Amino acid sequence: ALVLVTGASGFIAAHVCKLLLERGYKVRGTVRSASKGDYLVTLLSSPNFSYIVVPDIEAPGAFDEAVKGVDAVEHTASPFHARAHDPQELIGPAVQGTKGVLESVQKYNPAVKRIVVTSSVASIMVPCELGTVFTEKDWNTYSPGCVEREGVNAPNMEKYRASKVLAERAAWDFVEKEKPGWDVVTVCPPMVFGPIIHQVNAVESINTSVAALHSAFTLHGQKTGADAGMASGNWVDVRDVALVHVEGLSRPEAGGERYIASGGPFSWQMIYDSLHALGHVDGLDVEGLPKGTPGSDKETKYNVFSSKKAEQELGVKFTPMGESVRDTLLSLKGYGFH
Ligand code: NDP
Repeated sequence: ALVLVTGASGFIAAHVCKLLLERGYKVRGTVRSASKGDYLVTLLSSPNFSYIVVPDIEAPGAFDEAVKGVDAVEHTASPFHARAHDPQELIGPAVQGTKGVLESVQKYNPAVKRIVVTSSVASIMVPCELGTVFTEKDWNTYSPGCVEREGVNAPNMEKYRASKVLAERAAWDFVEKEKPGWDVVTVCPPMVFGPIIHQVNAVESINTSVAALHSAFTLHGQKTGADAGMASGNWVDVRDVALVHVEGLSRPEAGGERYIASGGPFSWQMIYDSLHALGHVDGLDVEGLPKGTPGSDKETKYNVFSSKKAEQELGVKFTPMGESVRDTLLSLKGYGFH
Protein backbone atom coordinates (compact mmCIF):
# COMPACT_ATOMS: atom_id res chain seq x y z
CA ALA A 1 0.00 0.00 0.00
CA LEU A 2 1.12 3.58 -0.69
CA VAL A 3 0.97 6.05 2.20
CA LEU A 4 1.17 9.83 1.89
CA VAL A 5 3.09 11.46 4.75
CA THR A 6 2.64 15.24 4.88
CA GLY A 7 5.46 17.34 6.34
CA ALA A 8 7.81 14.39 5.82
CA SER A 9 10.87 16.53 6.63
CA GLY A 10 9.80 16.95 10.27
CA PHE A 11 11.21 15.35 13.41
CA ILE A 12 8.27 12.97 13.96
CA ALA A 13 7.43 12.46 10.29
CA ALA A 14 10.91 11.23 9.35
CA HIS A 15 10.46 8.43 11.91
CA VAL A 16 6.96 7.71 10.60
CA CYS A 17 8.37 7.38 7.05
CA LYS A 18 11.18 5.12 8.26
CA LEU A 19 8.86 2.79 10.18
CA LEU A 20 6.31 2.61 7.36
CA LEU A 21 9.09 1.56 4.97
CA GLU A 22 10.32 -1.05 7.47
CA ARG A 23 6.76 -2.41 7.61
CA GLY A 24 6.70 -2.81 3.83
CA TYR A 25 4.61 0.23 2.94
CA LYS A 26 5.47 2.51 0.05
CA VAL A 27 5.76 6.12 1.14
CA ARG A 28 5.22 9.43 -0.66
CA GLY A 29 6.28 12.40 1.47
CA THR A 30 5.25 16.01 1.00
CA VAL A 31 8.02 18.53 1.64
CA ARG A 32 8.30 22.29 1.20
CA SER A 33 11.42 22.12 -0.96
CA ALA A 34 13.27 19.65 -3.17
CA SER A 35 16.38 19.90 -1.01
CA LYS A 36 14.41 18.59 2.00
CA GLY A 37 13.06 15.80 -0.18
CA ASP A 38 16.54 14.89 -1.40
CA TYR A 39 17.79 14.69 2.18
CA LEU A 40 15.04 12.14 2.92
CA VAL A 41 15.81 10.14 -0.21
CA THR A 42 19.38 9.76 1.05
CA LEU A 43 18.36 9.11 4.66
CA LEU A 44 15.70 6.51 3.90
CA SER A 45 17.58 5.00 0.98
CA SER A 46 14.64 2.95 -0.31
CA PRO A 47 13.14 2.53 -3.78
CA ASN A 48 9.77 2.66 -1.99
CA PHE A 49 10.22 6.28 -0.93
CA SER A 50 9.41 9.25 -3.11
CA TYR A 51 8.52 12.87 -2.43
CA ILE A 52 6.40 15.62 -3.85
CA VAL A 53 6.91 19.33 -3.23
CA VAL A 54 3.96 21.16 -1.64
CA PRO A 55 5.34 24.62 -0.99
CA ASP A 56 2.32 26.05 0.87
CA ILE A 57 -0.12 23.76 2.69
CA GLU A 58 -2.62 26.62 3.11
CA ALA A 59 -3.01 27.20 -0.61
CA PRO A 60 -6.34 26.03 -2.08
CA GLY A 61 -5.96 22.54 -3.52
CA ALA A 62 -2.42 22.27 -2.14
CA PHE A 63 -2.68 18.48 -1.77
CA ASP A 64 -4.70 17.73 -4.93
CA GLU A 65 -1.76 16.09 -6.73
CA ALA A 66 -0.19 14.57 -3.62
CA VAL A 67 -3.24 12.47 -2.69
CA LYS A 68 -3.72 10.86 -6.08
CA GLY A 69 -3.16 7.09 -5.98
CA VAL A 70 -2.45 6.74 -2.26
CA ASP A 71 -4.20 4.22 0.01
CA ALA A 72 -3.85 6.14 3.27
CA VAL A 73 -2.49 9.40 4.69
CA GLU A 74 -0.44 10.36 7.74
CA HIS A 75 -1.01 14.11 8.11
CA THR A 76 1.75 15.49 10.34
CA ALA A 77 2.58 18.88 8.77
CA SER A 78 1.83 21.72 11.19
CA PRO A 79 3.96 24.46 12.75
CA PHE A 80 5.16 23.82 16.32
CA HIS A 81 6.86 26.76 17.96
CA ALA A 82 6.18 29.36 20.64
CA ARG A 83 7.33 32.41 18.66
CA ALA A 84 4.15 33.39 16.84
CA HIS A 85 2.96 36.96 17.34
CA ASP A 86 -0.18 36.63 15.25
CA PRO A 87 -1.97 33.41 16.31
CA GLN A 88 -3.07 33.00 12.71
CA GLU A 89 0.55 32.16 11.83
CA LEU A 90 -0.06 28.82 13.60
CA ILE A 91 -3.82 28.41 13.25
CA GLY A 92 -3.82 29.05 9.49
CA PRO A 93 -1.54 26.19 8.41
CA ALA A 94 -2.80 23.87 11.18
CA VAL A 95 -6.49 24.18 10.36
CA GLN A 96 -6.33 24.92 6.65
CA GLY A 97 -3.63 22.28 6.16
CA THR A 98 -5.82 19.63 7.81
CA LYS A 99 -9.01 20.64 6.00
CA GLY A 100 -7.07 20.85 2.76
CA VAL A 101 -5.79 17.27 2.99
CA LEU A 102 -9.27 15.91 3.74
CA GLU A 103 -10.87 17.95 0.94
CA SER A 104 -8.29 16.87 -1.62
CA VAL A 105 -8.76 13.23 -0.64
CA GLN A 106 -12.54 13.52 -0.87
CA LYS A 107 -12.32 15.19 -4.27
CA TYR A 108 -9.54 13.25 -5.98
CA ASN A 109 -9.15 9.98 -4.10
CA PRO A 110 -12.25 9.04 -2.08
CA ALA A 111 -11.16 5.36 -2.17
CA VAL A 112 -8.55 6.13 0.51
CA LYS A 113 -9.06 3.93 3.57
CA ARG A 114 -7.67 5.96 6.43
CA ILE A 115 -6.30 9.37 7.38
CA VAL A 116 -4.19 9.56 10.54
CA VAL A 117 -3.83 13.11 11.87
CA THR A 118 -1.03 14.14 14.23
CA SER A 119 -2.79 16.07 16.94
CA SER A 120 -1.38 16.73 20.42
CA VAL A 121 -2.20 16.65 24.11
CA ALA A 122 -2.56 20.38 23.45
CA SER A 123 -6.00 19.50 22.11
CA ILE A 124 -6.87 17.57 25.30
CA MET A 125 -5.60 19.68 28.22
CA VAL A 126 -7.39 22.44 30.09
CA PRO A 127 -6.07 24.59 32.95
CA CYS A 128 -6.34 22.41 36.08
CA GLU A 129 -4.86 21.53 39.44
CA LEU A 130 -1.78 19.32 39.35
CA GLY A 131 -2.69 15.67 39.87
CA THR A 132 -5.28 15.56 37.07
CA VAL A 133 -5.50 12.52 34.79
CA PHE A 134 -6.55 13.24 31.21
CA THR A 135 -7.84 10.67 28.72
CA GLU A 136 -8.92 10.70 25.08
CA LYS A 137 -12.40 11.76 26.24
CA ASP A 138 -11.09 15.19 27.28
CA TRP A 139 -11.03 18.21 24.98
CA ASN A 140 -9.23 21.51 25.26
CA THR A 141 -12.15 23.90 25.59
CA TYR A 142 -9.92 26.72 26.83
CA SER A 143 -7.28 27.78 24.31
CA PRO A 144 -9.47 28.81 21.34
CA GLY A 145 -11.49 31.18 23.53
CA CYS A 146 -8.35 32.52 25.17
CA VAL A 147 -6.82 33.33 21.80
CA GLU A 148 -10.06 34.83 20.54
CA ARG A 149 -10.26 37.13 23.58
CA GLU A 150 -6.62 38.08 23.83
CA GLY A 151 -5.46 37.85 20.21
CA VAL A 152 -1.78 38.65 19.77
CA ASN A 153 -1.50 39.13 23.55
CA ALA A 154 -2.50 35.55 24.36
CA PRO A 155 0.33 33.44 25.82
CA ASN A 156 2.32 31.92 22.96
CA MET A 157 1.67 28.35 24.09
CA GLU A 158 -2.09 29.04 24.00
CA LYS A 159 -1.74 30.13 20.37
CA TYR A 160 -0.11 26.79 19.59
CA ARG A 161 -2.66 24.83 21.62
CA ALA A 162 -5.51 26.61 19.88
CA SER A 163 -4.01 25.69 16.50
CA LYS A 164 -3.91 22.00 17.45
CA VAL A 165 -7.38 21.72 18.95
CA LEU A 166 -8.99 23.65 16.11
CA ALA A 167 -7.19 21.47 13.55
CA GLU A 168 -8.23 18.23 15.22
CA ARG A 169 -11.81 19.40 15.57
CA ALA A 170 -11.82 20.36 11.91
CA ALA A 171 -10.91 16.77 11.02
CA TRP A 172 -13.68 15.21 13.14
CA ASP A 173 -16.19 17.83 11.93
CA PHE A 174 -15.35 17.02 8.32
CA VAL A 175 -16.00 13.32 8.90
CA GLU A 176 -19.26 13.99 10.70
CA LYS A 177 -20.52 16.34 8.01
CA GLU A 178 -19.31 14.64 4.84
CA LYS A 179 -19.56 11.00 5.98
CA PRO A 180 -16.74 9.95 3.66
CA GLY A 181 -15.94 6.32 2.80
CA TRP A 182 -12.67 6.59 4.75
CA ASP A 183 -12.12 7.16 8.46
CA VAL A 184 -9.86 9.25 10.67
CA VAL A 185 -7.54 8.37 13.57
CA THR A 186 -5.85 11.05 15.65
CA VAL A 187 -2.61 10.72 17.63
CA CYS A 188 -2.05 12.98 20.66
CA PRO A 189 1.55 13.10 21.94
CA PRO A 190 2.93 15.33 24.71
CA MET A 191 6.55 16.67 24.44
CA VAL A 192 8.37 14.36 22.06
CA PHE A 193 12.01 13.46 22.73
CA GLY A 194 14.17 10.77 21.17
CA PRO A 195 16.77 10.57 18.42
CA ILE A 196 16.65 13.09 15.57
CA ILE A 197 17.11 11.71 12.06
CA HIS A 198 15.63 14.59 10.02
CA GLN A 199 17.57 17.41 8.42
CA VAL A 200 18.78 19.96 10.95
CA ASN A 201 21.49 22.33 9.78
CA ALA A 202 22.10 24.36 12.92
CA VAL A 203 21.44 24.23 16.67
CA GLU A 204 18.91 27.04 16.24
CA SER A 205 16.80 24.93 13.91
CA ILE A 206 16.43 21.86 16.11
CA ASN A 207 12.69 21.18 16.42
CA THR A 208 10.98 22.70 19.48
CA SER A 209 10.68 19.65 21.77
CA VAL A 210 14.18 18.26 21.21
CA ALA A 211 15.57 21.80 21.50
CA ALA A 212 14.11 21.94 25.04
CA LEU A 213 15.95 18.75 25.98
CA HIS A 214 19.14 19.90 24.26
CA SER A 215 19.02 23.17 26.15
CA ALA A 216 18.48 21.45 29.51
CA PHE A 217 21.81 19.68 28.99
CA THR A 218 23.78 22.84 28.23
CA LEU A 219 25.63 24.95 30.77
CA HIS A 220 23.33 27.96 30.48
CA GLY A 221 20.08 26.03 29.92
CA GLN A 222 20.37 23.45 32.69
CA LYS A 223 17.68 23.45 35.36
CA THR A 224 18.39 23.54 39.06
CA GLY A 225 16.45 23.88 42.31
CA ALA A 226 12.70 24.37 42.07
CA ASP A 227 12.93 24.75 38.25
CA ALA A 228 14.35 21.23 38.03
CA GLY A 229 11.77 19.69 40.35
CA MET A 230 8.71 21.34 38.80
CA ALA A 231 6.11 19.30 36.86
CA SER A 232 6.87 20.02 33.20
CA GLY A 233 4.14 18.12 31.36
CA ASN A 234 4.37 14.64 29.88
CA TRP A 235 6.90 13.27 27.41
CA VAL A 236 7.20 10.42 24.90
CA ASP A 237 9.88 8.88 22.66
CA VAL A 238 9.57 9.74 18.97
CA ARG A 239 9.89 6.08 17.95
CA ASP A 240 6.81 5.28 20.03
CA VAL A 241 4.94 8.19 18.45
CA ALA A 242 5.82 6.77 15.04
CA LEU A 243 4.61 3.34 16.16
CA VAL A 244 1.24 4.73 17.23
CA HIS A 245 0.97 6.42 13.82
CA VAL A 246 1.69 3.16 12.00
CA GLU A 247 -0.47 0.91 14.22
CA GLY A 248 -3.20 3.54 14.02
CA LEU A 249 -2.96 3.37 10.24
CA SER A 250 -2.86 -0.39 9.82
CA ARG A 251 -5.48 -1.62 12.30
CA PRO A 252 -9.02 -1.42 10.89
CA GLU A 253 -10.55 -1.26 14.40
CA ALA A 254 -8.65 1.96 15.19
CA GLY A 255 -10.88 3.92 12.80
CA GLY A 256 -12.66 6.85 14.45
CA GLU A 257 -10.43 6.73 17.55
CA ARG A 258 -8.16 9.20 19.29
CA TYR A 259 -4.94 7.87 20.86
CA ILE A 260 -2.78 9.53 23.48
CA ALA A 261 0.86 8.50 22.93
CA SER A 262 2.64 9.26 26.20
CA GLY A 263 5.56 7.83 28.14
CA GLY A 264 4.38 9.60 31.32
CA PRO A 265 4.89 12.82 33.25
CA PHE A 266 8.27 14.46 33.76
CA SER A 267 10.24 17.06 35.61
CA TRP A 268 13.72 17.97 34.37
CA GLN A 269 15.03 16.37 37.54
CA MET A 270 13.49 13.07 36.47
CA ILE A 271 15.18 13.50 33.08
CA TYR A 272 18.61 14.08 34.65
CA ASP A 273 18.16 11.24 37.15
CA SER A 274 17.04 8.81 34.42
CA LEU A 275 20.23 9.44 32.46
CA HIS A 276 22.58 9.28 35.42
CA ALA A 277 20.93 6.04 36.57
CA LEU A 278 22.30 4.42 33.40
CA GLY A 279 25.83 4.88 34.70
CA HIS A 280 28.21 4.44 31.78
CA VAL A 281 27.04 5.14 28.22
CA ASP A 282 29.34 4.48 25.27
CA GLY A 283 29.98 7.74 23.44
CA LEU A 284 28.61 10.05 26.16
CA ASP A 285 30.38 11.65 29.10
CA VAL A 286 27.43 11.07 31.41
CA GLU A 287 29.35 12.09 34.52
CA GLY A 288 30.11 15.50 32.97
CA LEU A 289 26.45 16.23 32.13
CA PRO A 290 24.10 18.29 34.35
CA LYS A 291 22.58 16.54 37.37
CA GLY A 292 20.00 19.19 38.33
CA THR A 293 19.30 19.30 42.05
CA PRO A 294 18.73 15.70 43.15
CA GLY A 295 15.67 15.44 45.38
CA SER A 296 14.10 18.67 44.06
CA ASP A 297 11.18 16.66 42.65
CA LYS A 298 10.39 14.77 45.85
CA GLU A 299 7.07 16.52 46.50
CA THR A 300 6.11 17.15 42.88
CA LYS A 301 2.59 16.34 41.72
CA TYR A 302 1.99 15.70 38.05
CA ASN A 303 -0.78 15.77 35.51
CA VAL A 304 -0.94 12.54 33.54
CA PHE A 305 -2.08 11.92 29.98
CA SER A 306 -3.10 8.29 30.15
CA SER A 307 -1.73 6.10 27.38
CA LYS A 308 -3.62 3.00 28.49
CA LYS A 309 -5.73 2.99 25.37
CA ALA A 310 -2.72 2.91 23.02
CA GLU A 311 -1.10 0.22 25.17
CA GLN A 312 -4.21 -1.95 25.25
CA GLU A 313 -5.64 -1.41 21.79
CA LEU A 314 -2.48 -0.86 19.75
CA GLY A 315 -0.08 -3.02 21.77
CA VAL A 316 2.45 -0.22 22.24
CA LYS A 317 5.06 -0.54 24.99
CA PHE A 318 6.49 2.89 25.76
CA THR A 319 10.27 3.41 25.86
CA PRO A 320 11.76 4.11 29.31
CA MET A 321 12.92 7.68 29.91
CA GLY A 322 16.62 6.92 30.41
CA GLU A 323 16.87 5.15 27.07
CA SER A 324 15.10 7.96 25.29
CA VAL A 325 17.22 10.69 26.87
CA ARG A 326 20.39 8.74 26.10
CA ASP A 327 19.43 8.22 22.46
CA THR A 328 18.41 11.87 22.06
CA LEU A 329 21.77 13.08 23.38
CA LEU A 330 23.72 10.58 21.26
CA SER A 331 21.87 11.72 18.13
CA LEU A 332 22.48 15.40 18.91
CA LYS A 333 26.17 14.63 19.40
CA GLY A 334 26.19 12.88 16.03
CA TYR A 335 24.96 16.10 14.41
CA GLY A 336 27.74 18.01 16.16
CA PHE A 337 25.36 19.76 18.60
CA HIS A 338 26.87 19.77 22.07
P1 NDP B 1 8.86 19.71 13.17
O1 NDP B 1 8.92 21.18 13.30
O2 NDP B 1 10.12 18.96 13.07
O3 NDP B 1 7.93 19.29 11.96
C1 NDP B 1 6.89 20.06 11.51
C2 NDP B 1 6.59 19.67 10.08
O4 NDP B 1 5.51 20.48 9.58
C3 NDP B 1 7.76 19.91 9.15
O5 NDP B 1 7.73 19.00 8.10
C4 NDP B 1 7.49 21.31 8.64
O6 NDP B 1 8.07 21.55 7.38
C5 NDP B 1 5.99 21.28 8.52
N1 NDP B 1 5.46 22.64 8.65
C6 NDP B 1 5.56 23.45 9.71
N2 NDP B 1 4.98 24.62 9.45
C7 NDP B 1 4.50 24.55 8.21
C8 NDP B 1 3.80 25.45 7.37
N3 NDP B 1 3.46 26.67 7.78
N4 NDP B 1 3.51 25.05 6.14
C9 NDP B 1 3.87 23.81 5.72
N5 NDP B 1 4.51 22.92 6.46
C10 NDP B 1 4.82 23.28 7.69
O7 NDP B 1 8.03 19.26 14.44
P2 NDP B 1 7.44 17.87 14.91
O8 NDP B 1 7.92 16.74 14.09
O9 NDP B 1 7.62 17.84 16.35
O10 NDP B 1 5.89 18.09 14.63
C11 NDP B 1 5.13 17.26 13.79
C12 NDP B 1 3.70 17.26 14.26
O11 NDP B 1 3.64 16.75 15.58
C13 NDP B 1 3.01 18.62 14.31
O12 NDP B 1 1.68 18.44 13.88
C14 NDP B 1 3.06 18.97 15.78
O13 NDP B 1 2.01 19.84 16.15
C15 NDP B 1 2.86 17.59 16.39
N6 NDP B 1 3.30 17.46 17.77
C16 NDP B 1 4.61 17.58 18.12
C17 NDP B 1 5.01 17.43 19.44
C18 NDP B 1 6.44 17.54 19.85
O14 NDP B 1 6.72 17.63 21.05
N7 NDP B 1 7.40 17.51 18.95
C19 NDP B 1 4.04 17.17 20.49
C20 NDP B 1 2.68 17.03 20.01
C21 NDP B 1 2.35 17.17 18.71
P3 NDP B 1 9.59 22.12 7.24
O15 NDP B 1 10.49 20.96 7.55
O16 NDP B 1 9.67 22.55 5.84
O17 NDP B 1 9.71 23.23 8.22
